Amino acid sequence: MTENKKMGNLSTPVHSLAALPSVDRLLGVPAIATLGQTHGQSIVVRAIRQILDERRQRFQSASLYAEDLSQERLVQDVEQTLGRLLQPSLRPVINLSGTVLHTNLGRALLPERAVEAVVNAMRHPVNLEYALEAGHRGDRDDLIRERICALTGAEDATVVNNNAAAVFLMLNTLAFRRQVVVSRGELVEIGGSFRIPDIMSRAGARLREVGTTNRTHRHDYERAIHERTGMLMKVHCSNYEIQGFTHEVPLAELAALGAQYDIPATVDLGSGTLINMQSYGLPAEPTVQENIRQGARVVTFSGDKLLGGPQSGILVGDRESIQAIKKNPLKRMLRVDKLTLAALDAVLSLYEQPEHLAEQLTTLRLFTRPIEEIKAQARRWQEAFQQWVGPEFEVQAQPMYSQIGSGALPVEALPSYGLCCVYQGSGRTSRAVIQLEEALRRLPTPVVGRIQQQNLYLDFRCLSAADEEKLRLNFYHKQ
Ligand SMILES: *Cc1c(COP(=O)(O)O)cnc(C)c1O
Repeated sequence: MTENKKMGNLSTPVHSLAALPSVDRLLGVPAIATLGQTHGQSIVVRAIRQILDERRQRFQSASLYAEDLSQERLVQDVEQTLGRLLQPSLRPVINLSGTVLHTNLGRALLPERAVEAVVNAMRHPVNLEYALEAGHRGDRDDLIRERICALTGAEDATVVNNNAAAVFLMLNTLAFRRQVVVSRGELVEIGGSFRIPDIMSRAGARLREVGTTNRTHRHDYERAIHERTGMLMKVHCSNYEIQGFTHEVPLAELAALGAQYDIPATVDLGSGTLINMQSYGLPAEPTVQENIRQGARVVTFSGDKLLGGPQSGILVGDRESIQAIKKNPLKRMLRVDKLTLAALDAVLSLYEQPEHLAEQLTTLRLFTRPIEEIKAQARRWQEAFQQWVGPEFEVQAQPMYSQIGSGALPVEALPSYGLCCVYQGSGRTSRAVIQLEEALRRLPTPVVGRIQQQNLYLDFRCLSAADEEKLRLNFYHKQ
């Protein structure tokens, strides 16, 4: 041990904290010096400090006596730590979870046209708030207003950070210190702390619940109306469904009631699609244009759910309401940036070419992928996965169901295909499956599957050609 220290020999394993080399000494090791030249000294020093600290801590916790302090090992660790430090925090993953619009994985994947638009907006000055024709200051909403209005039939439109912000802004503008009448069947909670009653009170509006969980009638709304009523609001039950003995008041009827008392009827549509989903063989979902046609004064919906665009919240409605919303000082805080507008504009432009939508709009392409194609792909990968997981699991190719996700159409599923890893070993199944799920997450390009009934499911619906290349590298890396 002392011998090692005196001789400065880093090549044999040693067993003492005192034998840890200094930062400077490690910087002098040729392999590490090269790293310093390539990436700059500062970050390499950070990596060295980090691994030395880790070593010290492990010695102190006495969990490791025979720590390998050989030069090779230390250099390896520095390289690995440096690799981690240089890696971006936001990394691509392979979504085999079976949920297409996965909120934790960033929801909608943007189509190529949107990607190009965003790159352009990042690289070059753009007419974000500059009216090119007139040559003076413009309004950023003008970039997308015409497209949204043409697609939805609304008079006016504006865009904010997300649909939660859109709902908030609508309530705060049109119903501040006034009552908002909502059916008890529609007091929705969306994941991530979006709850209608909470948003409402934060927005300064007063919730007036009417009806019951399963049945609400026109007279329930009508009886609640008085001089402090500011709005009749419908909320789309995105992530649940009330079945059985139910009744809700159709929007057209609610809008007519509102008109009678001069109170706006509005809708938080949640996902809100612009297309007839059924014509693509998908489950029905109310469209934004239907809601406008049925008399909603304002409709709010998400940009990154069924629409397939960037995170944003879109408000459409009559000119007076939208203009009032735009004048709310909070709009300035909730507005979107040029990257979001670039992406949204590009996505909306795809809707103007409906003949090509199913192939151009990434989310719609994923929703409508032919099952035969998914099946062939899963079969192609079966062997490689079997090799990778080893004999402890049997990898079966089988039909399964994908979810649309993000609360859209919660009880509907899309028939899909994929691989199911079934534990064959003698240990505890649940632990083995959790470990497999973890191992997939730790791959150079993490793979996200889903555990269900003690099996690990890998749904191939969302596996793109680019993902397949990354999968190949993943498995190659292991060998
Ligand atoms: C998803 C959803 C929201 C929240 O939308 P974000 O874009 O996630 O902010 C609000 N209301 C309903 C009904 C929803 O489905």
